Amino acid sequence: MPKYHNYSKALHHKIFSVISRAADELEVEAYVIGGFVRDHILERGEPKDIDIVAVGSGIELARKVSDLLPHKPKVQVFQNFGTAMLRANDMEIEFVGARKESYRKDSRKPIVENGTLEDDQNRRDFTINALALKLNENGFGDLLDPFNGYQDLQDKVIRTPLDPDITYSDDPLRMYRAIRFASQLNFMIEAESLSAIKRNNKRIKIISKERIMDELHKILLSDQPSKGLALLFKTGLLAKILPELTALQGIDEVEGQTHKDNFWHTLEVVDNISRNTDDLWLRWAALLHDIGKAPTKKFHKKIGWTFHGHEFVGAKMVFKLFKRLRLPLNEKMKFVQKMVLMSSRPIAVADDHVTDSAVRRLIFDAGDHIEDLMTLCEADITTKNPKRFRKYHNNFQLVRQKMEEVEERDHVRNFQPPVSGEEIMSTFGITPSREVGQIKDAIKEAILEGDIPNEHDAARDFMLKMGEKLGLSVAEKS
Ligand code: ATP
Ligand code: MG
Repeated sequence: MPKYHNYSKALHHKIFSVISRAADELEVEAYVIGGFVRDHILERGEPKDIDIVAVGSGIELARKVSDLLPHKPKVQVFQNFGTAMLRANDMEIEFVGARKESYRKDSRKPIVENGTLEDDQNRRDFTINALALKLNENGFGDLLDPFNGYQDLQDKVIRTPLDPDITYSDDPLRMYRAIRFASQLNFMIEAESLSAIKRNNKRIKIISKERIMDELHKILLSDQPSKGLALLFKTGLLAKILPELTALQGIDEVEGQTHKDNFWHTLEVVDNISRNTDDLWLRWAALLHDIGKAPTKKFHKKIGWTFHGHEFVGAKMVFKLFKRLRLPLNEKMKFVQKMVLMSSRPIAVADDHVTDSAVRRLIFDAGDHIEDLMTLCEADITTKNPKRFRKYHNNFQLVRQKMEEVEERDHVRNFQPPVSGEEIMSTFGITPSREVGQIKDAIKEAILEGDIPNEHDAARDFMLKMGEKLGLSVAEKS
């Protein structure tokens, strides 16, 4: 038997004494269960949502709690699920009646009957998520821990309460949740569980893309996403949702020439970038920055392995991938595409002796995303050769320095043409036409090349010369 623990200290929030009173008045047992208890023991800070189990009707308990609260919050009832939710302060409190669940093969929706607290704990995904604290006055704060989840929290182990083959097959989303918790909490998945995930990975097909993406995003947002991504790979789950990524795994050798393993490289890049940004979509960009390398890979006798145009191909793949995974097809997707498309540009700039015009073009093309692009490219440096590592980072420092100088002088970051189309048309007395576009383009090019400064008067002089070349004459002022 687990040691006796009392956590009444965890229940200092006023809401718990209200639930306690409500439960005693209704003469039902009530417990706080799952994430709240787990995160309290792990000292992960104050949670935003609280799950309450009543041995009886969760809906009635929720209504009673609302009655006892001064502001009588609205109780949202989900009759189909037998659950109810209310908000108190900034917390969401979910109420459910203790239940026993049995599953059919083709669905993750179980057949549900009323049950005891133990039945309810049995249906939970992991021992660390089955911990419950009693809320009734008699035993307030007592920890109910039939599967020794407390010990698993100390040992940092993810384990299922029941036979893992049954747990994962019943609700295959749990495979993702196991890996997500391992990544988020830096826990180990117990060996039995891990092999059960491998055995059951085909079952993931009954889970909606949206649910899977929720979990994948939590993995991507963990401190070291490679932990979860590597587990997804090893269990065969990753190939089912991101085959473009797993296609990067492996090293080919022809005539003694090899290339790096772009899959494991990518995971390193994701970890690197995660030290510098919490932006989910920038992390996505890191994850996908090399996906064009599998379809473009070629071996040439003279130069070895190449991945010509992989950035362009990769950016095109992003759209299909986002669509298939029901990810947003809005500016987030466009941002990821842009990052993938431009992912080699700063390296090319840093490789040459960094010229002003190359830097100016880089800023112009990246626009507001230049910082993110630099963050991605710096994360992309995974060489184990310390000399090269230093060299690349120094070159990027140089690029950043140049960027500041150039931007301060030329303001090309959010480029506004210094001479407008209207001015061109009125100067030469012409209507909208190809020539107007040609002149505008030539001005932009001259600025990016550094032939003229980004200023109105210089650009106007340049425009007049261009007009002459095109056979246009300056219109008389009326
Ligand atoms: P977090 O909110 O930090 O993601 P959590 O553990 O609170 O973690 P929720 O998804 O909010 O996770 O679920 C609350 C509780 O419900 C869990 O702690 C677990 O006991 C149970 N649970 C959630 N999803 C499942 C599932 N698919 N199978 C079994 N039990 C689950
Ligand atoms: Mg939760």
